[in-house]
Amino acid sequence: MAQTTRARIDAAVSRALEAKLPIIKVDRDYYAVGSSSRPNEGYLLEIDDTGSIWCPCPGFEHTGLCVHKMSLGLHLGRVPASWLPTPTGGIDMAVVS
Ligand SMILES: [Zn+2]
Repeated sequence: MAQTTRARIDAAVSRALEAKLPIIKVDRDYYAVGSSSRPNEGYLLEIDDTGSIWCPCPGFEHTGLCVHKMSLGLHLGRVPASWLPTPTGGIDMAVVS
């Protein structure tokens, strides 16, 4: 299961880095993150008391990970280094096996 999670994180990080979604701070714990598929829409993400990022999009609902959450995490510098793709941009073969 850990491998699946790691692969999903890698995919989400890659998508977030590629998408370069616009991020606007709305309030202390609220950020608007642009939609990757609909240019003029976006999602309002909330950071809760524990520091977790919540997104109302369907992807987050299904997996707890989405391009918006990852984009905001990267924006805030809160994504652990271990989540980031390998420096070469290559695939971590230990994950794929
Ligand atoms: Zn989302």
